[in-house]
Amino acid sequence: METGSNTTTVRDAVVIGAGVTGIYMLHRLLALGLDATALDEAAGPGGTWYWNRYPGARFDSESYTYGYSFSKEILEEWSWSEHFAGQPETLRYLEFVVDKLGIRDRMQFGCKVKSARFDGASNRWTVEMEDGRRESARYLLGAVGALSAATLPRIEGRDDFEGEAFHTYDWPKDREVELAGRRVAVIGTGATGVQVIQTIAPIVGELAVFQRRPNWCAPLHNSPIDAETQKRIKGSYDQIFARMAETHGSFLHGTDPRSYHEVSEEERLALWEKNYASPGFGVWFSNFVEVFLDPEVNAAYSEFIANKIRSRVHDPAIAEKLIPKDHGFGNQRVPLESHYYEAYNRDNVRLVDASETPILRITPKGIQTTEEEFEFDLIIYATGFDSFTGSYDRIDIRGAGGQKLRDKWKDGPITYLGTNVSGFPNLFLLAGPQSASASSNYPPSIETCVGWTADFIDYLERNALQRVEARLEAEEQWTAEIKAGYEGNMIARAKSWFTGYNSNVDGHDKLRHMMYLGGSPAYRAKLAEVASKGYEGFDLG
Ligand SMILES: Cc1cc2nc3c(=O)[nH]c(=O)nc-3n(C[C@H](O)[C@H](O)[C@H](O)COP(=O)(O)OP(=O)(O)OC[C@H]3O[C@@H](n4cnc5c(N)ncnc54)[C@H](O)[C@@H]3O)c2cc1C
Repeated sequence: METGSNTTTVRDAVVIGAGVTGIYMLHRLLALGLDATALDEAAGPGGTWYWNRYPGARFDSESYTYGYSFSKEILEEWSWSEHFAGQPETLRYLEFVVDKLGIRDRMQFGCKVKSARFDGASNRWTVEMEDGRRESARYLLGAVGALSAATLPRIEGRDDFEGEAFHTYDWPKDREVELAGRRVAVIGTGATGVQVIQTIAPIVGELAVFQRRPNWCAPLHNSPIDAETQKRIKGSYDQIFARMAETHGSFLHGTDPRSYHEVSEEERLALWEKNYASPGFGVWFSNFVEVFLDPEVNAAYSEFIANKIRSRVHDPAIAEKLIPKDHGFGNQRVPLESHYYEAYNRDNVRLVDASETPILRITPKGIQTTEEEFEFDLIIYATGFDSFTGSYDRIDIRGAGGQKLRDKWKDGPITYLGTNVSGFPNLFLLAGPQSASASSNYPPSIETCVGWTADFIDYLERNALQRVEARLEAEEQWTAEIKAGYEGNMIARAKSWFTGYNSNVDGHDKLRHMMYLGGSPAYRAKLAEVASKGYEGFDLG
């Protein structure tokens, strides 16, 4: 509904973001009969899969575990062509879902939200976009993504470069980027850098990879899905989702039930070899639980993977540079790769160790390190994201009494359940900080968060409750539980987007407690318990 002369549209609910989360949230809100919209800076739906169009962008989750589970019709009608689909296919899938649900006309694109203010008198949020338009809503739902605030490196001279340069997130959407025969630099060797490097190495003329810290990578083993497998997948979705519901990370891959210490050396190696040769994240998760908890066992597994790297890279000195020395396997997000290590056996690929010879500046012609000046036609910044809180920090969000969310989260996120924040009534965070999303296969966790939030809003509506706010003590307890989850977990030892370190963001130089690490089943149980107790820990009014 438009309000008279000004440009504020008044609704029940506004969702910021139209990725996997925003699409499903909008669908659920509309199903409740609410007047809702989803706003996105992008020119279409898809979020991650709209933005990241760099060569080689694809799933590390099995495609059929990534699709939504809520609609039997969508499951039946959509056929994934590969076990790990590439970005174009995933974007097509999300477009298909949006049309299938008939919600495209409730989405608004090309609108970047710059601020959101809560008014305590009316219990409403007013959201303002960069073009000046405003939306007013009782419920504000953040579906802004954990990996959607791209960060460029703080290197002098970036604007001086005369060739082409972009962050992988901002890969051009309207044209092909020429790669054949060109001199290309990739800065960064996280999951995205790995996918780009392995994909463009055989295409470009020369490729220089600037690596500050290597990651532990392991083979993806992707393959097409043939007709018979397709039939089997579609016939077993119930079992697939039942299995995912059992595992810690909502993947098909769960930990090995045996203890590392109770099996023989041969049995250990047999499991590790099998996992290394199998598709997907089994190499990370289908392991003895001690690999995640016991530094000595983790070191043994890391050495096993290091030897794989040594066996795949011809030059022993390069192989050593590609083996992480500052963290153990799995303490950071493990990039899955397809012939990544073999790229370094090519004559046209060079690894530049930016920890030994740091980049000094970007020059008009290329990159100057402490040792050498390189010339490039294209610089690709695979330098990651201001994870979890970045997209919230980039919006001026002010809650009750004008408190800024950015200030409250200065030293890291503080939430109740990863879904709500004390002082910010009627704001729901979806698949955001301190939820179980990033420590799992995303979509099942997204469905958990969105489903729980939709049920909560339904409850508020049915009980004519206008205001919901997390209690401070509930929030303190939850945040303490999140912190406890990091203690003793090897993830806390690594400087990664799981722990909020990012040298390209001010103040992100210490551990931030970003994720719920207790596993998806425990997270679901906690949400269900809170709901069953009449939304314990919330003030409703
Ligand atoms: C390259 C890459 C590969 C990945 N692979 C996997 C995988 O294999 N398996 C897996 O489980 N997860 C993977 N992920 C994580 C992925 O982000 C999630 O799976 C999922 O797509 C998150 O969906 P979302 O809707 O929560 O967030 P997003 O997809 O990030 O969508 C958020 C949307 O919010 C919009 N937005 C943010 N701020 C504003 C604003 N101020 N105004 C307007 N719009 C705004 C953004 O434009 C964006 O479109 C991957 C991530 C990346 C980057």
